[in-house]
Amino acid sequence: MDGRDKPGHDETFRMSPPVFRFAPSPNGYLHLGHACSALLNADRARETGGRLLLRMEDIDATRCRPEFETAIYEDLAWLGIAWETPVRRQSEHLADYRAALERLSALGLVYPSFESRAEIAKLVAAREASGSWPRDPDGAPLYPGAARQLPHAERERLIASGAPYALRLDMEAACRQVPALDWTETGEGPNGERGQLAARPKAWGDVILARKETPTSYHLSVVVDDALQGVSEVVRGQDLFHATSVHRLLQVLLGLPAPVYRHHGLIRDEAGRKLSKSTRATGLRELRAGGASPTDIRRLVGLR
Ligand code: GLU
Repeated sequence: MDGRDKPGHDETFRMSPPVFRFAPSPNGYLHLGHACSALLNADRARETGGRLLLRMEDIDATRCRPEFETAIYEDLAWLGIAWETPVRRQSEHLADYRAALERLSALGLVYPSFESRAEIAKLVAAREASGSWPRDPDGAPLYPGAARQLPHAERERLIASGAPYALRLDMEAACRQVPALDWTETGEGPNGERGQLAARPKAWGDVILARKETPTSYHLSVVVDDALQGVSEVVRGQDLFHATSVHRLLQVLLGLPAPVYRHHGLIRDEAGRKLSKSTRATGLRELRAGGASPTDIRRLVGLR
């Protein structure tokens, strides 16, 4: 008699099913890259008897629109994907992100910076003129400013004056609190990385965690939501592979569990570029209008 036959086993020992999520931003129409992520998540959920959640990453109020959200539901349903409801909309949970931000603040890891984009670009140009200045894995220059050293009273004065600001993570201090950091990659990074991987959050510098007008950022809300929603396996494109380093750091600082990560290769256009929401030729709506079937979409993204 093996363990499964023992009376009472079912209720006592059943593991909770794996939890997956597809987390698009409703700031445009879905393209083949989104279809690839969504279908892979749905396939994994089916293969593992897991749950599939859908999350609207809609914290950018200037770019996200209800008609894009509606279109996402239509496109996913057309692809044959079923998700659990209610759908979590990030814009409805700002208090959760604020609480996480306060926790990081209480650890002494958050500071406001007041430079405009133009001022930052000027600072970077000045540093580059006298040598090189590091860039993050997405190619953007690391934050070059000295706001971390601003005296407390000066910060208070600037905030009280109504100046716009970004709240940044003090990366050096954060990494001192979390010396070794890794994650389990069951997919593949852009250079074939897989298995137990070392996280390198310092490559991102003092990332923005929130802004004056938005109490969160992509990094902060993704980490808080994955934990609150019990996500056990994150399936997403390789464009977010390096961001995982920041996510792992935030998870440890916030005492949140680590999901397993499965990054997939990106769908590219004929010129080899990453797809964007404005590239008509690969939009799901355009393909559908042109007569493509859901099976054609699977084939186009390399799935059987
Ligand atoms: N909202 C992100 C995007 O649309 C995906 C976030 C994630 O999967 O971690 O690119």
